[in-house]
Amino acid sequence: MRYRLRPVPHRLFLRKDGGVDIQIPDELLPADGRFGAGPSKVRPAAVSALAGVATSYLGTSHRQKTVRDQVARLRRGIGEFFGLPAGYEVVLGNGGSTAFWEVAAFGLIRDRAQFASFGEFGAKFAAAAEAAPFLGEPTVRKAEPGSAPSLVAEPGVDAYCSPHNETSTGVAVPVRRVAGADEGALMLTDGTSGAGGLDVDLTETDVYYFAPQKCFGSDGGIWLALMSPAALARAAEIKASGRYIPAFLDLVTAVENSRLEQTYNTPALATIFLAAEQVDWMLEQGGLAWAAKRTAESASILYGWAERSPVASPFVTDPTLRSNVIATIDFADGVDASAIAKVLRANRVVDTEPYRKLGRNQLRVALFPSIEPSDVERLTASIDYVVARL
Ligand SMILES: *Cc1c(COP(=O)(O)O)cnc(C)c1O
Repeated sequence: MRYRLRPVPHRLFLRKDGGVDIQIPDELLPADGRFGAGPSKVRPAAVSALAGVATSYLGTSHRQKTVRDQVARLRRGIGEFFGLPAGYEVVLGNGGSTAFWEVAAFGLIRDRAQFASFGEFGAKFAAAAEAAPFLGEPTVRKAEPGSAPSLVAEPGVDAYCSPHNETSTGVAVPVRRVAGADEGALMLTDGTSGAGGLDVDLTETDVYYFAPQKCFGSDGGIWLALMSPAALARAAEIKASGRYIPAFLDLVTAVENSRLEQTYNTPALATIFLAAEQVDWMLEQGGLAWAAKRTAESASILYGWAERSPVASPFVTDPTLRSNVIATIDFADGVDASAIAKVLRANRVVDTEPYRKLGRNQLRVALFPSIEPSDVERLTASIDYVVARL
Protein backbone atom coordinates (compact mmCIF):
# COMPACT_ATOMS: atom_id res chain seq x y z
CA MET A 1 0.00 0.00 0.00
CA ARG A 2 1.20 3.49 -0.86
CA TYR A 3 0.39 6.56 1.12
CA ARG A 4 1.59 10.11 1.32
CA LEU A 5 2.34 11.90 4.53
CA ARG A 6 0.16 14.95 4.89
CA PRO A 7 1.90 18.22 5.60
CA VAL A 8 2.04 18.77 9.34
CA PRO A 9 0.71 22.11 10.57
CA HIS A 10 3.56 24.45 11.42
CA ARG A 11 2.73 24.53 15.12
CA LEU A 12 4.00 21.20 16.35
CA PHE A 13 1.62 19.42 18.67
CA LEU A 14 3.41 16.10 18.81
CA ARG A 15 6.66 16.10 20.69
CA LYS A 16 9.71 14.21 19.43
CA ASP A 17 9.28 11.69 22.23
CA GLY A 18 5.83 10.84 20.92
CA GLY A 19 4.11 12.73 23.72
CA VAL A 20 1.37 15.16 22.97
CA ASP A 21 0.95 18.77 23.87
CA ILE A 22 -2.80 18.84 23.52
CA GLN A 23 -4.33 17.46 26.64
CA ILE A 24 -8.07 17.05 26.41
CA PRO A 25 -9.69 18.05 29.73
CA ASP A 26 -11.13 15.14 31.70
CA GLU A 27 -14.64 16.58 31.65
CA LEU A 28 -14.66 16.39 27.83
CA LEU A 29 -13.14 12.93 27.50
CA PRO A 30 -15.38 9.88 26.97
CA ALA A 31 -15.53 7.64 30.04
CA ASP A 32 -14.46 4.76 27.78
CA GLY A 33 -12.21 5.68 24.86
CA ARG A 34 -12.80 2.69 22.59
CA PHE A 35 -14.50 3.61 19.31
CA GLY A 36 -12.97 0.98 17.03
CA ALA A 37 -14.96 -0.90 14.39
CA GLY A 38 -13.66 -4.25 15.60
CA PRO A 39 -12.27 -5.53 17.78
CA SER A 40 -14.53 -3.09 19.53
CA LYS A 41 -15.35 -2.10 23.08
CA VAL A 42 -15.82 -5.10 25.34
CA ARG A 43 -17.84 -4.15 28.41
CA PRO A 44 -15.82 -4.42 31.63
CA ALA A 45 -18.78 -6.18 33.28
CA ALA A 46 -18.51 -8.97 30.71
CA VAL A 47 -14.78 -9.29 31.41
CA SER A 48 -15.51 -9.48 35.16
CA ALA A 49 -18.03 -12.22 34.50
CA LEU A 50 -15.36 -14.05 32.50
CA ALA A 51 -12.93 -13.66 35.39
CA GLY A 52 -15.61 -15.23 37.57
CA VAL A 53 -15.38 -18.46 35.58
CA ALA A 54 -11.59 -18.33 35.27
CA THR A 55 -11.05 -21.68 36.94
CA SER A 56 -14.35 -23.45 36.28
CA TYR A 57 -14.83 -22.72 32.54
CA LEU A 58 -11.63 -21.41 30.94
CA GLY A 59 -9.19 -24.18 30.29
CA THR A 60 -11.81 -26.94 30.25
CA SER A 61 -12.85 -29.32 27.49
CA HIS A 62 -15.08 -27.97 24.74
CA ARG A 63 -16.65 -31.43 24.48
CA GLN A 64 -17.97 -31.31 28.08
CA LYS A 65 -21.13 -29.85 29.54
CA THR A 66 -19.61 -26.69 31.05
CA VAL A 67 -18.54 -25.34 27.68
CA ARG A 68 -21.45 -26.78 25.71
CA ASP A 69 -23.81 -25.02 28.13
CA GLN A 70 -22.23 -21.70 27.13
CA VAL A 71 -22.53 -22.50 23.43
CA ALA A 72 -26.18 -23.37 24.12
CA ARG A 73 -26.65 -20.09 26.02
CA LEU A 74 -25.18 -18.18 23.09
CA ARG A 75 -27.28 -19.99 20.44
CA ARG A 76 -30.47 -19.68 22.48
CA GLY A 77 -29.81 -16.00 23.23
CA ILE A 78 -29.06 -15.16 19.59
CA GLY A 79 -32.24 -16.93 18.51
CA GLU A 80 -34.31 -14.94 21.00
CA PHE A 81 -32.55 -11.66 20.17
CA PHE A 82 -33.29 -11.95 16.45
CA GLY A 83 -36.72 -13.54 16.83
CA LEU A 84 -35.53 -16.58 14.87
CA PRO A 85 -38.24 -17.54 12.36
CA ALA A 86 -39.58 -21.12 12.38
CA GLY A 87 -37.12 -23.60 10.91
CA TYR A 88 -34.12 -21.23 11.02
CA GLU A 89 -31.07 -22.45 12.94
CA VAL A 90 -28.16 -20.75 14.70
CA VAL A 91 -24.95 -22.29 13.35
CA LEU A 92 -21.42 -21.46 14.41
CA GLY A 93 -17.88 -22.33 13.45
CA ASN A 94 -14.31 -21.15 13.70
CA GLY A 95 -12.52 -18.53 11.65
CA GLY A 96 -14.69 -15.41 11.74
CA SER A 97 -16.64 -13.88 8.88
CA THR A 98 -13.68 -14.13 6.50
CA ALA A 99 -13.75 -17.89 6.91
CA PHE A 100 -17.50 -17.85 6.36
CA TRP A 101 -16.99 -16.37 2.86
CA GLU A 102 -15.07 -19.53 1.98
CA VAL A 103 -17.65 -21.69 3.77
CA ALA A 104 -20.34 -20.06 1.61
CA ALA A 105 -18.33 -20.40 -1.60
CA PHE A 106 -17.90 -24.12 -0.93
CA GLY A 107 -21.24 -24.86 0.63
CA LEU A 108 -23.96 -22.35 -0.29
CA ILE A 109 -23.36 -21.04 -3.81
CA ARG A 110 -24.47 -23.68 -6.28
CA ASP A 111 -23.04 -22.02 -9.40
CA ARG A 112 -23.57 -18.31 -9.91
CA ALA A 113 -23.81 -15.58 -7.32
CA GLN A 114 -24.54 -11.88 -7.58
CA PHE A 115 -22.71 -9.54 -5.22
CA ALA A 116 -23.27 -6.02 -4.03
CA SER A 117 -19.82 -4.51 -3.75
CA PHE A 118 -19.55 -1.04 -2.24
CA GLY A 119 -16.52 -1.27 -0.03
CA GLU A 120 -13.80 -3.55 1.22
CA PHE A 121 -15.87 -6.30 2.80
CA GLY A 122 -18.45 -6.82 0.05
CA ALA A 123 -15.59 -6.87 -2.45
CA LYS A 124 -13.72 -9.54 -0.51
CA PHE A 125 -16.62 -12.00 -0.55
CA ALA A 126 -17.04 -11.39 -4.30
CA ALA A 127 -13.33 -12.05 -4.79
CA ALA A 128 -13.60 -15.35 -2.89
CA ALA A 129 -16.36 -16.55 -5.25
CA GLU A 130 -14.51 -15.26 -8.33
CA ALA A 131 -11.47 -17.28 -7.33
CA ALA A 132 -13.37 -20.54 -6.75
CA PRO A 133 -12.72 -22.71 -9.83
CA PHE A 134 -15.86 -24.81 -9.29
CA LEU A 135 -18.24 -21.80 -9.46
CA GLY A 136 -19.53 -19.91 -12.45
CA GLU A 137 -18.53 -16.31 -13.08
CA PRO A 138 -20.35 -14.14 -10.53
CA THR A 139 -22.02 -10.83 -11.27
CA VAL A 140 -20.58 -8.01 -9.20
CA ARG A 141 -22.69 -4.88 -8.89
CA LYS A 142 -20.46 -2.07 -7.75
CA ALA A 143 -21.00 1.38 -6.37
CA GLU A 144 -18.59 4.05 -5.28
CA PRO A 145 -17.60 4.08 -1.60
CA GLY A 146 -20.22 6.10 0.25
CA SER A 147 -23.11 4.82 -1.85
CA ALA A 148 -24.63 1.37 -2.48
CA PRO A 149 -25.77 -0.62 -5.53
CA SER A 150 -29.03 -2.56 -5.67
CA LEU A 151 -29.23 -6.28 -6.28
CA VAL A 152 -31.41 -7.11 -9.30
CA ALA A 153 -33.06 -10.34 -10.39
CA GLU A 154 -30.93 -12.23 -12.90
CA PRO A 155 -31.77 -15.63 -14.42
CA GLY A 156 -29.31 -18.32 -13.34
CA VAL A 157 -28.19 -16.58 -10.16
CA ASP A 158 -28.69 -18.92 -7.20
CA ALA A 159 -27.28 -16.70 -4.43
CA TYR A 160 -27.56 -12.94 -3.89
CA CYS A 161 -24.99 -11.50 -1.50
CA SER A 162 -24.73 -8.16 0.22
CA PRO A 163 -23.32 -6.69 3.38
CA HIS A 164 -25.92 -5.27 5.75
CA ASN A 165 -23.46 -2.63 6.86
CA GLU A 166 -20.29 -1.84 4.88
CA THR A 167 -17.84 -1.28 7.72
CA SER A 168 -15.19 0.32 5.54
CA THR A 169 -17.43 3.19 4.41
CA GLY A 170 -20.26 3.50 6.94
CA VAL A 171 -23.04 2.65 4.49
CA ALA A 172 -25.97 0.51 5.68
CA VAL A 173 -28.63 -0.97 3.40
CA PRO A 174 -31.92 -2.66 4.28
CA VAL A 175 -31.96 -6.47 4.29
CA ARG A 176 -34.47 -7.33 1.59
CA ARG A 177 -35.04 -10.23 -0.81
CA VAL A 178 -34.57 -9.61 -4.53
CA ALA A 179 -37.94 -9.36 -6.27
CA GLY A 180 -38.23 -11.65 -9.28
CA ALA A 181 -35.24 -13.84 -8.39
CA ASP A 182 -35.24 -17.46 -9.59
CA GLU A 183 -37.28 -19.81 -7.44
CA GLY A 184 -35.04 -21.15 -4.66
CA ALA A 185 -32.32 -18.50 -5.04
CA LEU A 186 -30.76 -17.72 -1.65
CA MET A 187 -30.10 -14.37 -0.02
CA LEU A 188 -26.81 -14.22 1.94
CA THR A 189 -26.29 -11.21 4.18
CA ASP A 190 -23.00 -10.23 5.77
CA GLY A 191 -24.23 -8.82 9.06
CA THR A 192 -20.81 -8.71 10.68
CA SER A 193 -20.89 -5.09 11.81
CA GLY A 194 -24.65 -4.51 11.56
CA ALA A 195 -25.91 -7.56 13.44
CA GLY A 196 -26.99 -6.61 16.92
CA GLY A 197 -27.15 -2.88 16.21
CA LEU A 198 -29.38 -2.56 13.15
CA ASP A 199 -32.93 -3.72 12.76
CA VAL A 200 -33.40 -6.81 10.59
CA ASP A 201 -36.25 -9.09 9.56
CA LEU A 202 -34.67 -12.50 9.12
CA THR A 203 -37.45 -13.71 6.83
CA GLU A 204 -35.89 -11.32 4.25
CA THR A 205 -32.68 -13.36 4.09
CA ASP A 206 -31.58 -17.00 4.14
CA VAL A 207 -28.26 -16.56 5.86
CA TYR A 208 -27.45 -13.72 8.23
CA TYR A 209 -23.84 -14.23 9.27
CA PHE A 210 -21.53 -12.27 11.53
CA ALA A 211 -18.64 -12.45 13.96
CA PRO A 212 -18.94 -11.34 17.59
CA GLN A 213 -16.19 -8.71 17.86
CA LYS A 214 -18.46 -5.85 16.73
CA CYS A 215 -21.96 -5.24 18.14
CA PHE A 216 -21.70 -8.44 20.17
CA GLY A 217 -18.88 -6.92 22.20
CA SER A 218 -16.78 -10.07 22.30
CA ASP A 219 -13.54 -11.12 20.68
CA GLY A 220 -12.91 -12.39 17.15
CA GLY A 221 -12.39 -15.90 15.87
CA ILE A 222 -15.84 -17.42 15.37
CA TRP A 223 -18.62 -16.95 12.86
CA LEU A 224 -22.32 -17.28 13.55
CA ALA A 225 -24.84 -17.87 10.78
CA LEU A 226 -28.63 -17.74 11.14
CA MET A 227 -29.75 -20.13 8.41
CA SER A 228 -33.16 -20.60 6.85
CA PRO A 229 -34.56 -24.04 5.94
CA ALA A 230 -33.74 -23.26 2.29
CA ALA A 231 -30.13 -22.50 3.18
CA LEU A 232 -29.83 -25.66 5.28
CA ALA A 233 -31.24 -27.66 2.35
CA ARG A 234 -28.84 -25.99 -0.11
CA ALA A 235 -25.84 -26.88 2.05
CA ALA A 236 -26.99 -30.52 2.22
CA GLU A 237 -27.65 -30.60 -1.54
CA ILE A 238 -24.19 -29.28 -2.45
CA LYS A 239 -22.46 -31.67 -0.07
CA ALA A 240 -24.42 -34.60 -1.52
CA SER A 241 -23.37 -33.54 -5.03
CA GLY A 242 -19.85 -34.69 -4.21
CA ARG A 243 -18.14 -31.29 -4.51
CA TYR A 244 -14.76 -31.25 -2.78
CA ILE A 245 -15.22 -29.32 0.47
CA PRO A 246 -12.33 -28.92 2.95
CA ALA A 247 -13.46 -30.40 6.27
CA PHE A 248 -12.75 -27.17 8.15
CA LEU A 249 -15.05 -25.23 5.78
CA ASP A 250 -17.80 -27.84 5.60
CA LEU A 251 -21.09 -26.15 6.48
CA VAL A 252 -23.00 -29.39 6.97
CA THR A 253 -20.41 -30.47 9.53
CA ALA A 254 -20.81 -27.09 11.24
CA VAL A 255 -24.60 -27.51 11.32
CA GLU A 256 -24.31 -30.98 12.84
CA ASN A 257 -21.83 -29.79 15.47
CA SER A 258 -23.90 -26.73 16.30
CA ARG A 259 -26.96 -28.88 16.99
CA LEU A 260 -24.78 -30.61 19.61
CA GLU A 261 -23.66 -27.22 21.03
CA GLN A 262 -20.15 -27.80 19.70
CA THR A 263 -17.77 -26.74 16.95
CA TYR A 264 -15.80 -28.97 14.58
CA ASN A 265 -12.51 -28.01 16.19
CA THR A 266 -11.54 -26.13 19.34
CA PRO A 267 -13.19 -22.71 19.66
CA ALA A 268 -11.96 -19.73 21.70
CA LEU A 269 -13.83 -20.27 24.95
CA ALA A 270 -13.48 -16.65 26.05
CA THR A 271 -15.01 -15.44 22.78
CA ILE A 272 -18.05 -17.68 23.26
CA PHE A 273 -18.54 -16.66 26.88
CA LEU A 274 -18.17 -12.91 26.20
CA ALA A 275 -20.62 -13.13 23.29
CA ALA A 276 -23.15 -15.00 25.45
CA GLU A 277 -22.76 -12.35 28.18
CA GLN A 278 -23.36 -9.58 25.66
CA VAL A 279 -26.47 -11.21 24.19
CA ASP A 280 -27.95 -11.73 27.65
CA TRP A 281 -27.11 -8.13 28.56
CA MET A 282 -28.74 -6.80 25.40
CA LEU A 283 -31.80 -8.99 26.00
CA GLU A 284 -32.11 -7.55 29.53
CA GLN A 285 -31.98 -4.03 28.10
CA GLY A 286 -34.80 -4.76 25.66
CA GLY A 287 -33.28 -6.80 22.85
CA LEU A 288 -32.82 -5.75 19.26
CA ALA A 289 -35.41 -2.96 19.48
CA TRP A 290 -33.45 -1.41 22.36
CA ALA A 291 -30.09 -1.87 20.60
CA ALA A 292 -31.30 -0.34 17.33
CA LYS A 293 -32.78 2.63 19.20
CA ARG A 294 -29.54 3.17 21.10
CA THR A 295 -27.33 3.11 17.98
CA ALA A 296 -29.80 5.46 16.27
CA GLU A 297 -29.42 7.85 19.19
CA SER A 298 -25.62 7.73 19.01
CA ALA A 299 -25.76 8.21 15.24
CA SER A 300 -28.02 11.24 15.49
CA ILE A 301 -25.62 12.79 18.02
CA LEU A 302 -22.59 12.26 15.77
CA TYR A 303 -24.11 13.10 12.38
CA GLY A 304 -25.98 16.06 13.89
CA TRP A 305 -22.71 17.40 15.28
CA ALA A 306 -20.93 16.89 11.93
CA GLU A 307 -23.69 18.69 10.05
CA ARG A 308 -23.47 21.67 12.41
CA SER A 309 -19.66 21.70 12.41
CA PRO A 310 -17.90 24.17 10.09
CA VAL A 311 -15.08 21.65 9.47
CA ALA A 312 -16.73 18.21 9.62
CA SER A 313 -19.40 16.58 7.46
CA PRO A 314 -20.84 13.07 7.08
CA PHE A 315 -18.98 11.21 4.30
CA VAL A 316 -22.18 9.43 3.24
CA THR A 317 -24.17 12.20 1.60
CA ASP A 318 -27.46 10.29 1.31
CA PRO A 319 -28.89 10.29 4.87
CA THR A 320 -30.89 7.10 4.17
CA LEU A 321 -27.63 5.19 3.58
CA ARG A 322 -25.84 6.52 6.67
CA SER A 323 -25.05 3.72 9.07
CA ASN A 324 -26.16 3.90 12.68
CA VAL A 325 -23.35 1.58 13.75
CA ILE A 326 -20.34 2.95 11.83
CA ALA A 327 -20.10 6.67 11.17
CA THR A 328 -17.58 8.10 8.72
CA ILE A 329 -16.88 11.81 9.08
CA ASP A 330 -14.92 13.83 6.53
CA PHE A 331 -12.91 16.90 7.48
CA ALA A 332 -12.31 20.04 5.46
CA ASP A 333 -8.99 20.62 3.73
CA GLY A 334 -6.68 22.24 6.19
CA VAL A 335 -7.93 20.14 9.11
CA ASP A 336 -5.87 17.00 9.25
CA ALA A 337 -8.08 14.14 10.42
CA SER A 338 -5.09 11.87 11.00
CA ALA A 339 -3.64 14.49 13.34
CA ILE A 340 -6.96 14.56 15.25
CA ALA A 341 -6.89 10.76 15.51
CA LYS A 342 -3.31 10.89 16.80
CA VAL A 343 -4.12 13.43 19.49
CA LEU A 344 -7.22 11.47 20.49
CA ARG A 345 -5.13 8.32 20.72
CA ALA A 346 -2.54 10.08 22.90
CA ASN A 347 -5.49 10.99 25.16
CA ARG A 348 -6.57 7.32 25.20
CA VAL A 349 -9.46 7.77 22.78
CA VAL A 350 -8.57 5.08 20.26
CA ASP A 351 -9.29 3.63 16.83
CA THR A 352 -11.01 6.62 15.22
CA GLU A 353 -8.71 6.28 12.19
CA PRO A 354 -10.55 5.74 8.88
CA TYR A 355 -10.46 2.49 6.95
CA ARG A 356 -6.91 2.63 5.63
CA LYS A 357 -7.60 1.85 1.98
CA LEU A 358 -10.34 4.46 1.68
CA GLY A 359 -7.59 7.09 1.80
CA ARG A 360 -9.78 9.97 2.92
CA ASN A 361 -9.29 12.87 5.33
CA GLN A 362 -11.72 11.17 7.66
CA LEU A 363 -12.49 9.74 11.07
CA ARG A 364 -14.46 6.53 11.47
CA VAL A 365 -16.36 5.95 14.69
CA ALA A 366 -18.15 2.80 15.83
CA LEU A 367 -21.50 3.36 17.51
CA PHE A 368 -22.13 -0.21 18.65
CA PRO A 369 -24.65 -0.90 21.45
CA SER A 370 -21.90 -1.20 24.09
CA ILE A 371 -20.88 2.38 23.45
CA GLU A 372 -22.69 4.93 25.61
CA PRO A 373 -24.41 7.70 23.63
CA SER A 374 -23.07 10.09 26.29
CA ASP A 375 -19.55 9.01 25.32
CA VAL A 376 -20.32 9.79 21.67
CA GLU A 377 -21.40 13.26 22.83
CA ARG A 378 -18.12 13.63 24.70
CA LEU A 379 -16.17 12.42 21.68
CA THR A 380 -17.61 15.27 19.61
CA ALA A 381 -16.62 17.75 22.35
CA SER A 382 -13.12 16.27 22.42
CA ILE A 383 -12.77 16.58 18.64
CA ASP A 384 -13.93 20.20 18.77
CA TYR A 385 -11.36 20.87 21.51
CA VAL A 386 -8.55 19.32 19.44
CA VAL A 387 -9.54 21.04 16.18
CA ALA A 388 -9.50 24.42 17.91
CA ARG A 389 -5.92 23.79 19.03
CA LEU A 390 -4.30 22.17 15.99
C1 LIG B 1 -15.25 -7.07 10.28
C2 LIG B 1 -15.99 -7.50 9.09
C3 LIG B 1 -15.67 -8.69 8.41
C4 LIG B 1 -14.48 -9.53 8.79
O1 LIG B 1 -14.70 -10.20 9.98
P1 LIG B 1 -13.58 -11.19 10.53
O2 LIG B 1 -14.22 -11.84 11.71
O3 LIG B 1 -12.38 -10.36 10.88
O4 LIG B 1 -13.25 -12.14 9.45
C5 LIG B 1 -16.46 -9.06 7.36
N1 LIG B 1 -17.51 -8.31 6.95
C6 LIG B 1 -17.83 -7.16 7.56
C7 LIG B 1 -19.01 -6.38 7.08
C8 LIG B 1 -17.08 -6.73 8.65
O5 LIG B 1 -17.40 -5.58 9.27
